[in-house]
Amino acid sequence: MTIPFLSVRDLTVDFDTEDGVVHAVDGLSFDVEKGTTLGIVGESGSGKSVTNLAVLGLHDPAYTKISGEIVLDGRELTTAPRRELERLRGNKVAMIFQDPLTSLSPYHSVGRQISETYRRHTGASRGEARGRAVEMLRRVGIPHPVSRVDDYPHQFSGGMRQRVMIAMALVCDPDLLIADEPTTALDVTVQAQILDLLKELQEQTGTAIILITHDLGVVANAAQEVLVMYAGRAVERGTVREVLGTPRHPYTWGLLSSMPRLRSSVDVPLVPVRGTPPSLIHVPPGCPFHPRCDYQAQAGPDLCVGDRPELSPHRGHGDACYLTPAHKREIFADQIKERL
Ligand code: SF4
Repeated sequence: MTIPFLSVRDLTVDFDTEDGVVHAVDGLSFDVEKGTTLGIVGESGSGKSVTNLAVLGLHDPAYTKISGEIVLDGRELTTAPRRELERLRGNKVAMIFQDPLTSLSPYHSVGRQISETYRRHTGASRGEARGRAVEMLRRVGIPHPVSRVDDYPHQFSGGMRQRVMIAMALVCDPDLLIADEPTTALDVTVQAQILDLLKELQEQTGTAIILITHDLGVVANAAQEVLVMYAGRAVERGTVREVLGTPRHPYTWGLLSSMPRLRSSVDVPLVPVRGTPPSLIHVPPGCPFHPRCDYQAQAGPDLCVGDRPELSPHRGHGDACYLTPAHKREIFADQIKERL
């Protein structure tokens, strides 16, 4: 059996706060292979960003307790010294964020910021690093890179700034790129261009990508595998075709039913998931989705509030719900499919 490039097993992340312990991630497992994209989907507070900060080692050990395994290219990261994690960041793993303005310094030219990252990790000379910055701006589609390398972030549009962020993230040819809501702040045409750019760069370099998003439409366009998270746990996992074509978990049905579709008739109403995500300090017992779920009666209400359902099977299309496969097929065909 081949070992996945990134393997996360039974990851748990807890934070100490004044109000109590936040159970941000609880028993999460997933794999990412080189050259593929995993979409991690969920509402705010579902634990998707925290998971990836843990992969990057960007948590504060004074307040955070992490258990489980994060193995990147054969190296266990949860026990790795901070110095090694710092070396890995930028070199082997890089991240792009939703808002480039908060990630790019307004006081330095984009060329300087890209070349400093390159110099820090490779020891290249100033001249070599500047050449690399121009090359990266060209690769991400910034017109006239030789003159624009000396421009400042505010001189670029939102879409172009996101391209600069991608150039900075990829300047050291990382093997894993974590993209946290990279297109949320952009309008739809620029969003499509950025997703196409990531795909194109992935084809050239074989980089593995984790794409964090609340938008299943983004996942449909950009990922091969998808993990749906709720209250710090994985509730459904599979290929994009499986999870978006024949979703099995009531939360995934809710996310899909609340998504506008270009091809749907205007008579088909959007049905948001009722209620709000739970507090991660007081996670509901049993299935954490039960206070918002309309299908407890079919599953057996005692079951849903009793034990926590586990994600099964271990590989392939799996979900964490007590409904029987026959019930899931029936409900999906009778009530959900027509909304999609
Ligand atoms: Fe709903 Fe019960 Fe399934 Fe949870 S286990 S999603 S509460 S039916």
